[in-house]
Amino acid sequence: MTTPESGFGAELEPFAGITSFMRLPVTRDLTGVDVAVVGVPYDGGTSYRSGARLGPRRIREASVMLWGYNNALAVKPLDVLKVVDYGDVNVIPPSITESMANIEARADAVLAAGATVLALGGDHSISLPLMRAHARKFGPLGVVHFDAHPDTWHREFDEQPYSHGTSFRRAIEEKIIDPSRYVQMGLRGPTPEAMDWQWARERGVRAITMDDVVELGLPAVVRTMREALRGPIYVSLDIDAADPAFAPGTGTPEVGGFTSREMLQLVRGLRGVELVGCDVVEVSPPYDHGDITSILAANLAFELLSLMAVRRRGGLEGNGEPRGFSMRAG
Ligand code: MN
Ligand code: MN
Repeated sequence: MTTPESGFGAELEPFAGITSFMRLPVTRDLTGVDVAVVGVPYDGGTSYRSGARLGPRRIREASVMLWGYNNALAVKPLDVLKVVDYGDVNVIPPSITESMANIEARADAVLAAGATVLALGGDHSISLPLMRAHARKFGPLGVVHFDAHPDTWHREFDEQPYSHGTSFRRAIEEKIIDPSRYVQMGLRGPTPEAMDWQWARERGVRAITMDDVVELGLPAVVRTMREALRGPIYVSLDIDAADPAFAPGTGTPEVGGFTSREMLQLVRGLRGVELVGCDVVEVSPPYDHGDITSILAANLAFELLSLMAVRRRGGLEGNGEPRGFSMRAG
């Protein structure tokens, strides 16, 4: 390459330089920026195994081999969108409320500058302040929530309202989420009570369990998922939606989840929806092996970026349903 050397960034080999997401420039200058990748290294909301505070750094490391052209979606996102690595939110480990305030303020700043947030967690408690900021700008959100768990507990620790298991309960209570445009993808595993899954369903939330996925097959699942999606959509992707065989590095693993390939197909199935913000959470590097989980998370973040690029570029075929993923079969 003949581009001048800055000592970091994409003009160097992938193994060289200071690590940023996809070797993008690190800056808080959002002039002309379409998408800001924001690290949120907070894991004080975890109930079992912590370590997701190390997620953003490791996902960045795992992202350096993302070469840029997405063959499945036929788009090179960095040619369509100006994307930067916005660095990390200043979190306060012993205070979830102060950390949430800082997360919300950072998301507000990115949105005020006209950019879209792609957040890298962190545990799932970070999604509530992120969604609060997005709902303030876009109104009640439609949500696609990939997760083994519904995260709709009333209280997880005594009377504490906030944790990684309560975010979506609070968001529905605060009317940040429109329940009729909210889909949970990949629920499974035992729960303390039946109510853990029922609470959201009773409020009109669509829950697609792993048993549903096995019964329906992926194309039908994509169709069902898309039926609920109108208006501004926030995608929240808990990496434990994937099976622990494909994502061992996470805090609350549940067997019987999606394969990596299925996760990619489901995210690509969101092609054409009005994606206004997203996060990839619950990657806990201390429990990972061979970076399996962080590589998956980095690739899913790249798919989300690609969806934004496809939508920005326009020219959707037909009704915007994904090509290369037969919507007729099944
Ligand atoms: Mn979760
Ligand atoms: Mn989960």
